[in-house]
Amino acid sequence: MVEGVGPLSREDTVRRTLAATLATSTAVAVTTFSAAAPAPAKPGPQPPPKVPVATGYGGAVSSVDPNATAIGLDVLRRGGNAVDAAVATAAALGVTEPYSAGVGGGGYLVHYDAASGEVTTIDGRETAPAAMQPDAFIDPATGKPYPFTPDLVTSGVSVGVPGTPATWQTALDRWGSLSLADALRPAADLAQRGFTVDPTFALQTSENALRFRTFTSSGELFLPRGRVPAVGSTFRNPDLARTYRLLGARGTGWLYDGALGAEVARTVQRPPLSGETDLPVPVGSMTTADLAGYRAHVQAPTSIGYRGYDVYGMAPSSSGGTTVGESLNILEQLPEPADDVAALHQYLESTALAFADRGRYVGDPAYVDVPTEALLDDTFAKERGCLVDPAVAATKPVAAGDVTSYDGICEAPADAEGVDTDTEGLSTTHLTTADRWGNVVSYTLTIEQTGGSGIVVPGRGFLLNNELTDFSTVYDPADPNRIQPGKRPRSSMSPTILLRDGKPVLALGSPGGSTIITTVLQVLLNRLDLGMSLPAAVAAPRASQRNTANVTAEQAFIDRYGAALASYGHHFAVAGPPGSSASEIGAVAAIELGPGGQLTAVAEPTRRGGGSAGVVRPTLGR
Ligand code: GLU
Repeated sequence: MVEGVGPLSREDTVRRTLAATLATSTAVAVTTFSAAAPAPAKPGPQPPPKVPVATGYGGAVSSVDPNATAIGLDVLRRGGNAVDAAVATAAALGVTEPYSAGVGGGGYLVHYDAASGEVTTIDGRETAPAAMQPDAFIDPATGKPYPFTPDLVTSGVSVGVPGTPATWQTALDRWGSLSLADALRPAADLAQRGFTVDPTFALQTSENALRFRTFTSSGELFLPRGRVPAVGSTFRNPDLARTYRLLGARGTGWLYDGALGAEVARTVQRPPLSGETDLPVPVGSMTTADLAGYRAHVQAPTSIGYRGYDVYGMAPSSSGGTTVGESLNILEQLPEPADDVAALHQYLESTALAFADRGRYVGDPAYVDVPTEALLDDTFAKERGCLVDPAVAATKPVAAGDVTSYDGICEAPADAEGVDTDTEGLSTTHLTTADRWGNVVSYTLTIEQTGGSGIVVPGRGFLLNNELTDFSTVYDPADPNRIQPGKRPRSSMSPTILLRDGKPVLALGSPGGSTIITTVLQVLLNRLDLGMSLPAAVAAPRASQRNTANVTAEQAFIDRYGAALASYGHHFAVAGPPGSSASEIGAVAAIELGPGGQLTAVAEPTRRGGGSAGVVRPTLGR
């Protein structure tokens, strides 16, 4: 049965509740504060055109935003490398996509170094403060968990120590040619002169109006004169321009050991409440010592072989690399599917199995023993693949596999222990860069929720994350993703680079909470197995099976494949309310590297209003 409006999983319920609450919040804001009446539009600077596909040579950038892509390309044109361009593009996204990423958040960066042929990663995930207790998400007033929305998402208690500035500095130190000041300058200029508000920015502001109005700093910045900025008007952020310039001049020590850090800690402990709303805002415990203790980790990628490609991804604390890798390993040892629908059935079954293992085993490796090797072992995948029936979808949830004992021989499926509750946000942003020397960066960064914690650091122009909501909400001592002081919450971010014969051929990633994993997988499946071009692989409708009773899918996927897949026993729930940002799954930014240095940069044609791809020297005649 195709369940467009069928029973919802807990996960779907969380997502829908969130969307509905934010929609209601906006309505409340409208009645109480007239936030709906958009500010009158003043003509803004003309944004660069949005181009979803660009082909050529000499370097490439793909991101969700035309200003950010243009800044990255400019860095490449002036002789910067892929890392310089990635940092400059990311900083620009902090200006134009401030609700998805920025100085107050974290992320994961995968780098291919052309000179050495090595792939290395940076884990720039936010960390929990040292004083965070296992019961941090329990309301002392009631003894019950805080409601996820709005209490937990709009709080100091969910703010992790930001990792993004440390990630930028670490990447530049290791591989870049620009100083941090130079890499941030174009974004500072952009924040100063402003950008033209597009419908996505206006919608996201409107969806967050109540949260922003709760804090003096956030309301002043994002709701000028109490209103959502009108589409077509210019949005300037001089505070952020100054923050970028000071960060460049003073270095990241300004945040981790200095005055900015003290301001961040104070904001987390005493958010600047406006008194205009009655949203409860649980406070956090972050101190300057937590900031001083922060490190971005340079670490080895995950690596698996798939049909002649070497697939590199993020090792834990992200579950991206292990879950993408395990799914591909399972797919690789299944019989060749008869047609596209059979291939999609295999895809949905493989991700359910891999998500069961992700939930059971993956957390911050500094705190829990993550069996990364076993999860990526072909023999383990073979045994997991035994559970994929060629004609019948398994009943979800499926149980996790046994990583301590496996031999590739099929066994009867075990009973599942329970459903993994998914509260990851649907925000985040991804960018991919490549340079003339053949270096490649795949970088996903976030502040978690769209709008993060909703709290702008007063006078600094950036939002703090609410990344700690990625910890399991209910504490269970056996859960690898339980709250622990100083720990990194498990992520799904999956920046990925594929090599063939030692050379990069494809780099990609996406936002979208836990759907990031399935989005990356589906694009790989479309491109490598189903014969689509990269632009077609990115544009194709998406579905996400994360070990829940229903497959969450875009309406277009259900329209195209729902009936055929229902005959296997797959059930569908349409993603998000129609017309809301949650009705789309992911927003891919990718680059394909062809023979002779040819580059194809690909962004979304329509999701999130369309992304922006560019190359340094476009191929003429296209
Ligand atoms: N917090 C999520 C993660 O780390 C990302 C949030 C999102 O994509 O919206 O996986």
